[in-house]
Amino acid sequence: MNETREIEFFWTVHHGKRWSFALSEANALTGLTFDAAYDDDPTGWSVERTAEFVSVARGELIEIDGELIELDDTGSVNSRKPRTLPHVFWYCLFCGERHNVDLFRDPLHGTSPWPNPSVWHCERGKGKVLIHW
Ligand SMILES: [Zn+2]
Repeated sequence: MNETREIEFFWTVHHGKRWSFALSEANALTGLTFDAAYDDDPTGWSVERTAEFVSVARGELIEIDGELIELDDTGSVNSRKPRTLPHVFWYCLFCGERHNVDLFRDPLHGTSPWPNPSVWHCERGKGKVLIHW
């Protein structure tokens, strides 16, 4: 059986149109700092609170071996270094597939990880799921 829980969403709103959401007002505002739309137009933003029932699922934190590739101005490879990046994998209650999210929105620039739990969308656009890991 799918567990559902009512949770509060804090939506960033730009000139009256909902843009993104987080599970706290502080995280909604922090998320804006990563958003290109905010960089393009930092005026007219606000935060709106709603409550919604969402499905709950368990995620698993997995380190993935990768490579950090630095390019020069011409696009040629400057250096390659092995790099481990944490991802959260979760089985989607809507489409049944395994989805994953980079734990760090921008690992190269040392941004903070997604808060645990987080609400993410099914990659096929079928709904939102609260993920604990
Ligand atoms: Zn899905």
